[in-house]
Amino acid sequence: MATGRKDEGSASDAGRARGSDHGVVSDQIPEAIEVQITAIPKVATGIPAILHSLAYGLSEMGPRRMTRAWLAVNQKAGFDCPSCAWADPDGNRHPFEFCENGAKAMADEATTSRITPEFFARYSIAELSEKSDYWLNRQGRLTSPMILRPGNTHYTPSSWEDAFQTIAMELKQLGSPDEAVFYTSGKATNEAAFLFQLLARSYGTNNLPDCSNMCHESSGWGLQQTLGVGKSTVTLGDLEHAALIFSIGQNPGTNHPRMLTSLLAAKRNGATIIDVNPLPEVGLLRFKHPQEPTHLLGAGTRLSDRLLQVRINGDVALLKGIIKAVLEAEERSPGTVLDRDFIRDHTSGYDQFREHVKTVEWRQIEEESGIARDRIVEIGEMASKAHSTIICWAMGLTQHRNGVENIREIVNLLFLRGNIGKANSGVLCVRGHSNVQGDRTMGIWEQMDGGFLDRLGAEFKFDPPRRKGYDTVEAIRAMDAGKVKAFISLGGNFLSATPDTDVVARGLGKCSLTAFISTKLNRNHLVTGATSVILPCLGRTEIDEQATGPQFTTVEDTLGVVSSSRGVLTPASEHIKSEVAIVAGIAAATVSGKGNLDWMKFLDYDQIRDRASRVVAGFEKFNERVRAPGGFYAPVAAKQRQFDTDTGKANFTVNPIRPLQLAADQYLMMTIRSHDQFNTTIYGLDDRYRGIRGGRRVIFMNREDIAEAGLKDRQLVDLISHFQGERRTIRDFSVIPYEIPRRCTATYYPETNPLVALGSVAEISNTPASKSIVISIEPAHRGEGARPLP
Ligand code: SF4
Repeated sequence: MATGRKDEGSASDAGRARGSDHGVVSDQIPEAIEVQITAIPKVATGIPAILHSLAYGLSEMGPRRMTRAWLAVNQKAGFDCPSCAWADPDGNRHPFEFCENGAKAMADEATTSRITPEFFARYSIAELSEKSDYWLNRQGRLTSPMILRPGNTHYTPSSWEDAFQTIAMELKQLGSPDEAVFYTSGKATNEAAFLFQLLARSYGTNNLPDCSNMCHESSGWGLQQTLGVGKSTVTLGDLEHAALIFSIGQNPGTNHPRMLTSLLAAKRNGATIIDVNPLPEVGLLRFKHPQEPTHLLGAGTRLSDRLLQVRINGDVALLKGIIKAVLEAEERSPGTVLDRDFIRDHTSGYDQFREHVKTVEWRQIEEESGIARDRIVEIGEMASKAHSTIICWAMGLTQHRNGVENIREIVNLLFLRGNIGKANSGVLCVRGHSNVQGDRTMGIWEQMDGGFLDRLGAEFKFDPPRRKGYDTVEAIRAMDAGKVKAFISLGGNFLSATPDTDVVARGLGKCSLTAFISTKLNRNHLVTGATSVILPCLGRTEIDEQATGPQFTTVEDTLGVVSSSRGVLTPASEHIKSEVAIVAGIAAATVSGKGNLDWMKFLDYDQIRDRASRVVAGFEKFNERVRAPGGFYAPVAAKQRQFDTDTGKANFTVNPIRPLQLAADQYLMMTIRSHDQFNTTIYGLDDRYRGIRGGRRVIFMNREDIAEAGLKDRQLVDLISHFQGERRTIRDFSVIPYEIPRRCTATYYPETNPLVALGSVAEISNTPASKSIVISIEPAHRGEGARPLP
């Protein structure tokens, strides 16, 4: 195993190593604290966002590439933004249809910096492991296939054929197909994803974990149980015309900034917006539209009408309180509040649900949510009167032990006034990576339904495996237990994205093969199996030219719109291949003998879409429909009030408030993203919307908690997580006083992933509970004390 060790830093903070006691993090202690606190801006986006976009774009791409990319991104004939999954307007689009984060993602991918084979000759794995994630990313695009052979210290160049044969040889010698795992990042396109799942299932396994297992899996399960479909039920037009909008556990200003444009439109149409979040986030407070010059120069628009700073994971209690207030309003004026027709004709379980709500006391609601009764009742009154309501959420709700219950409680609230299958109403789970929803639609899941597998088998004339495969957490356990020996990754940075970093590193190290389809170098390439292969691929921004001619790919956004994506830039190297070509190459070398499938035919991507149209429900005439400007909506039966659930109806559910017990010296910690990152990719060390400059190793704490614990502003502390008697420690975080509820804290992902125990997951969905981490905080142990705590 080549062991990666990480610190976080940059050229500017070189040598400022970070302490930790897990094997993939540097254990040196910083000499100085450099994190600076600056004023938190009062308005999001505006001119600073434009300047940051320009600066990043020019420095990475240069003016010509930048202009070409900027004019094509999110246009109907252009390419889909490689960053988040936010939807594009159905109608006319602005010539610059992107946000600051999209600009950074494009520049990051379309950078002119290159990693050549000489780079790998210069740096051993051990030397690269000493570099920060930020440094690794800054080295530029991968340009040639590389192989790390058993016992070697360096990756060495490889031909594509050798790379494919090496992978095939390793896969063919496994004792069982279930000893291989095929992981997918949410950036992979529909075509690559469809082929990847076909490869895995042709090989004989359903081990298809993906990044969705770690984020919105709880949403999928919660919606499936209640609505019969794990997707959003609204359009962008609905959002812009809703009377009442809840934004719960999400930070659109940083994680999906163009959502602010839709919220601004909603606001102008008279919407009331309720922001539910432990932290006040600038994006929802006030927004300046960067594409409207007059708005840009003015004071901006306040978006959020109410900010409810709920305690971390106090959401069921809060929602229960709002529901209770709505039911009490109905009792006061019978027949005027609830949509009784909807409840009678379309739902199941209402009586039991109502009885449960009656038993819940306001005292408990206030205590667990941290919000006073009168404030909750006010929101309940708004919900009782609004003629249309949409509830939006992200990982603030899903990454808890009761993540599925959080989603079900949202749906309960919407049911009361028939806000499903009604104009401008419904659920909106705001997904992270650009095609995470499409990948699932295309079959990337360890437990696809029998119908999908039947159709897949009929189309490709084989018998797909029916055993449930490993999800992400199960795959890590299996690797660590020596049950998985080959790990193949279609994009992503599995090591950094997953919880319990030590265990993941240990598991990867036990593999005989790790293989990564990647655009850029990341930490995972340095924490490998005995043999490791890097397969450099085209990015979304680049022209995809195959022997059959120019190709386009497709993606599905968070609202279920399936559209085409055509890159416009010259590829980073003539030696790189598309994701589709790489997956086809691995498949041809590995499973070509099965079913006489000519995998190379799929380099005409229409062939993939033709085959997928007969396998994926609702994708009939895929090629034809996706060629329409703007694409098409994937079907969501709940929009028509058809509910494919166990009862055939929309299901009310009973979701108890689960009090959290903290010891006197414990806090609840949630992981968050900074404004200078996207998922595991760190673009910079600032978080301007939270007033942080020059560092990410910080813990946001309530001022009174800081004083009570005898700590000081920017004091260095160690963080110790507690889960079922296990302790995990990471070192040297700066205390930052912040407006956050008592006993709640926040830290940046992925730096604090080592604190998330693998067993700490949401019930049913198995999503890591990365926003419910019980920690204690100790002054940093220096010198001798810097060694791992017992
Ligand atoms: S909102 Fe998301 S998809 Fe849209 S440009 Fe920004 S990062 Fe890209």
